[in-house]
Amino acid sequence: MNRRHWLRNAALLSAFGWGSARAGEEANGAADFQRRWQSFLPPQHDLSLDLTPLQRSKGEWQKLLPGDSYAVLFEEATEPPFTSPFNHEKRPGLFLCRACRLPLFSTEMKFDSGTGWPSFFSSIPGHLAQQRDFKIFIPRTEYHCVRCGGHQGHVFDDGPAPTRQRWCNNGVALSFLPQTA
Ligand SMILES: [Zn+2]
Repeated sequence: MNRRHWLRNAALLSAFGWGSARAGEEANGAADFQRRWQSFLPPQHDLSLDLTPLQRSKGEWQKLLPGDSYAVLFEEATEPPFTSPFNHEKRPGLFLCRACRLPLFSTEMKFDSGTGWPSFFSSIPGHLAQQRDFKIFIPRTEYHCVRCGGHQGHVFDDGPAPTRQRWCNNGVALSFLPQTA
C-alpha cells in the first residue's frame, strides 16, 4: 500500500469509526441469517407455516409424542446432556418443533457450544416466544414454540458472534428436516 492509499484508508476509518462499522456488519449478519431461513425448506414440503396457536390439550400431546419428548415439551423436563444425535447434525436443513413441526432454526444458525445440547446463535423470527423462569432460583429465559406452546430450552447471552446469543435447545423437542432427501 502506498502512502496515498494509506492516508485515504486512515481517513475513512476515522470518518466512520472502526467500532461502529463493525457493529453494523454484525447486525446485518444476524438479520441475513434470520431472513433467509426459508431457503433451507426442501423443494417439496408439507409444512404449515401458519402461526395460529393450536388448541390441543396436554393429554392429546401425550398420546401423540414419545415419552421423553412429551416430558420436555409439556412438562418442562431437561434431557441429559450429550444424548442428542442433533449435537452432530450439520446437513443443510431446518430444525422443527417436535410437536407441531413449526420450523424454529436453520442449520446456518447452529454452532457447537460444547454444552452437550444442540445450540443456536439465532432463531427464526416470530416462531419462538420467551418468558423468565425461576426454576433453579437463578432467573433464566425460557423459550417455547408460539404455535403449540411446547417448551424448547433456555436462551443465554454468552453465545458467539454475530448475535452473542446461545439458544440451548433440548434435542428431543426437535425434529430435523434435511433440505435434500
Ligand atoms: Zn410447536
